Amino acid sequence: MAGVDCPLCKSNPEAVDHLFLLCPWSWELWTSCKQWWEVSSCTSKSISEWLHSWNGLCPSLNRKRVWNTLFFAIVWTIWEAHNNEVFKDKAANLSVSLDSVKFRVTWWFKNFSSGSDVAVTLLMLDLKERCIDKTTVKVPSSIVWSPPVDEDLLFNVDGSTRGSPGMAGVGGVLRDSREF
Ligand SMILES: [Zn+2]
Repeated sequence: MAGVDCPLCKSNPEAVDHLFLLCPWSWELWTSCKQWWEVSSCTSKSISEWLHSWNGLCPSLNRKRVWNTLFFAIVWTIWEAHNNEVFKDKAANLSVSLDSVKFRVTWWFKNFSSGSDVAVTLLMLDLKERCIDKTTVKVPSSIVWSPPVDEDLLFNVDGSTRGSPGMAGVGGVLRDSREF
């Protein structure tokens, strides 16, 4: 029995690696997105291998999060183009899909990063410059101790272990309302 043809190029059997990577239409979308990021061409035989090599293509070390998002935005957009062809009889349009990828990545950045005050249309124009990964800065929580009131007593306890099981220690401070 003959397999179903890929709805995007209509000249190859539909298969996962073909649809998401090897199909000339899909590859054109990957290439356009790489050009958007000024990344030189590189290819792969399977989508899983491509996912692994994608990380290494990242144009800058502090833009890894948006770069990884781009991968999945492209895959999502190819699947959308596929479904539009199959279920809505709507021809895949490379330029529309490229815009969809850009919008998706920019929306993601707007929602999850520091660009939230800037309009998506403006962000899209210079996303590459703006999409620097935020480094996680740990802010130590300040601890304020207040003495108990009146006749109350306050018992602060803490413990720790070295290994599990291992040496353990526990200690505590019992305080009344007097500050000293
Ligand atoms: Zn195809």
